[in-house]
Amino acid sequence: MNSDPSVNIAIPELPEAIRGLKEISLNLWWTWNSRGKNLFKLLNAYLWKESNHNPILMLQMISADELGKACENEYFMREYHYVYDLFKVYIDDSNIYADEPLPIAYFCAEYGLHHSVPIYSGGLGFLAGDILKESSDMGLPMVGIGFMYPKGYVRQFMGADGWQNSAEEPIEKDVAPIERVLDEEKNHFTIQVPFIDPPVYASVWKINVGRVTLYLLDTDIDENDPWDRQISSRLYTPDLNQRLRQQIVLGIGGYRVLEELGIEYSILHLNEGHPAFALFERVRSFMENENLALEEALAKVKSTSVFTTHTPLQAATDVYNFDMMSASFRDYWEKMGMSKEQFMHFGINPDDPNAGFNMTVFGMNLCDHRNAVSKKHCEVATKIWSHVLPESTKEKPAMDYVTNGVHLPTWIGDELYTVLVDALGDKWDLIQDDSALWGFVNDISNKRLWKISQKNKVTMVNFIRERVRIKYAKDGIDPVVAMTEGVLLDPDVLTIGFARRMTAYKRPDLILHDLDRLEKIVNNRDKPVQLVFAGKAHPSDIEGKKILQHIFKTAQDGRFRGRIAFIEDYGENVAKYLLHGVDVWLNNPQIPMEACGTSGMKASLNGTLHLSVPDGWWPEAYNGRNGWAFGKEPSDTVTDAEALYALLENEIIPLYYDVDNNGVPNHWVLKMKEAMQSIPPAFSARRMMKDYLDKFYIPISKNAQA
Ligand SMILES: *Cc1c(COP(=O)(O)O)cnc(C)c1O
Repeated sequence: MNSDPSVNIAIPELPEAIRGLKEISLNLWWTWNSRGKNLFKLLNAYLWKESNHNPILMLQMISADELGKACENEYFMREYHYVYDLFKVYIDDSNIYADEPLPIAYFCAEYGLHHSVPIYSGGLGFLAGDILKESSDMGLPMVGIGFMYPKGYVRQFMGADGWQNSAEEPIEKDVAPIERVLDEEKNHFTIQVPFIDPPVYASVWKINVGRVTLYLLDTDIDENDPWDRQISSRLYTPDLNQRLRQQIVLGIGGYRVLEELGIEYSILHLNEGHPAFALFERVRSFMENENLALEEALAKVKSTSVFTTHTPLQAATDVYNFDMMSASFRDYWEKMGMSKEQFMHFGINPDDPNAGFNMTVFGMNLCDHRNAVSKKHCEVATKIWSHVLPESTKEKPAMDYVTNGVHLPTWIGDELYTVLVDALGDKWDLIQDDSALWGFVNDISNKRLWKISQKNKVTMVNFIRERVRIKYAKDGIDPVVAMTEGVLLDPDVLTIGFARRMTAYKRPDLILHDLDRLEKIVNNRDKPVQLVFAGKAHPSDIEGKKILQHIFKTAQDGRFRGRIAFIEDYGENVAKYLLHGVDVWLNNPQIPMEACGTSGMKASLNGTLHLSVPDGWWPEAYNGRNGWAFGKEPSDTVTDAEALYALLENEIIPLYYDVDNNGVPNHWVLKMKEAMQSIPPAFSARRMMKDYLDKFYIPISKNAQA
């Protein structure tokens, strides 16, 4: 089956000489290629900014006259040919991993790829996005399945009272790099989710992520009743009935899409419990298409499926009561030749058997390959699910772990990227997970590295101010709100960033615990400190909204003299400015609630030092020199806040302000260098995917072929 972008995306006819721009703009590859990004900026820097870095929108805005001029600009044309050739070579390049696994279908409820595609809420989505990008870079045979959320996630905008208001962030289908998949009659390809009552239909879209295709299901179509049209309208709807229908469409519908498109794959990888119903459809499909008996089909599914869990809490998993399950699945279990009891049994949590059907328990029961997302999380997950997991053996633990990693080309700052390519050459990405090579950062002079990081801070402050100015110009906001949102920030001051979802377990207001002490820290005359916060609360998380309000109000408190700011509408774009621009990245969840965390990896890659409690990935990474650790397990707010203040007062602030005659804090920069060589190779998405290959994909492939 084909797709035809022109059906939904109107890109004007381009001059022959630069026709390839259209192809480039319809594949997210350019988002992680610095020459690709720069090409659009070269075309017209102002429109590039106005279009919010969206090449499709930009090509709609630019005049034919200007395109004509670009074709006559020698420098632009040289860059164009270079980038287009690079793109073509990339798309046709072969696998760089020695042992080729069988094709993998990756399922996740959200993907964080670029801000022009708002189908993510946070960490889980960025992990999934980075996995697709890295699989593309490595040439792994992977295909992604997810959801089109026509209403996107939520846009956050703050009122003067600090209460989070949210608005929908609809996907703009005519300017997002999302293409309709068409059937033979050139109609939008649509599936019916099988044996689910009442019937639900979903149409299919696709996104090109380099060499990987991500298919998205969309229920907002005429075939569905109004209630069902909204199944995919927003991420993680709190309405349980709707949520169940959502997960049925994602898992079972997603599986149908792969089969009906004739996409071959052998390994099923479920990222979290949301898409786990795909496992049932896989059993059903094996029974129907390969004439396997139920037991054989179950055994085959178990041996070829991977389940990744992301939470350290039983309570954070999705559980559907048996009545709800029966209402949807009655025909389905019959079709599989199962009794209701047999069917429900797969999702029953022995620790709470009457609660209903638990998606994580189900995933772990039907996948022999299970993993947590950090070493510490693995210990916790093994403990909390001990009544679900089988015995571990020495060769095969019941629960293994693959610590998350981040896609380095996506998260590295542009200027640092240039330094890296100068030092390691164009092929640096082939060797990105080799720790010895990252020693190159020692060859960068302290002065140069310091300059880069401080320039990033200026860029961040300018970005923040410009956003507030635009908001002011549009909505005429209260000057106090403008102040709270960062116009008073000073790029010369030690800056601590805290940006993540606003929710209780992450303790966003820990540093506000003792405001008198914080006031002294912030307002120290010759060693001042400023705090930059950002993050959305889930619309139904009232406690999270209250924490956010507390932060916002504190930022307005005159005694902090404009040194605390809250940056509105955190997302991929804001994250990049903050990750590159602040000096210290603060992370203080309640231990052991953060299964992994990835933003600290992105920060460290850019020389932003990680200041964190020993939770998630940090115990694996912290070596005493590449950041700081504070706080004890079990967490206690009073002692943790005390430890944080003491560390700031005694170590972090003095180190930052201990500068030489050129204004360079050499000991600080040495710490940056330590972080930049120890963390990126070990916490890259490359290392992560090699772990998935070594622990799961390759053994499964060998076993299946034997
Ligand atoms: C990386 C990232 C996250 C996840 O970070 P955590 O450390 O897990 O909170 C969330 N949001 C954005 C925008 C990110 O880039």
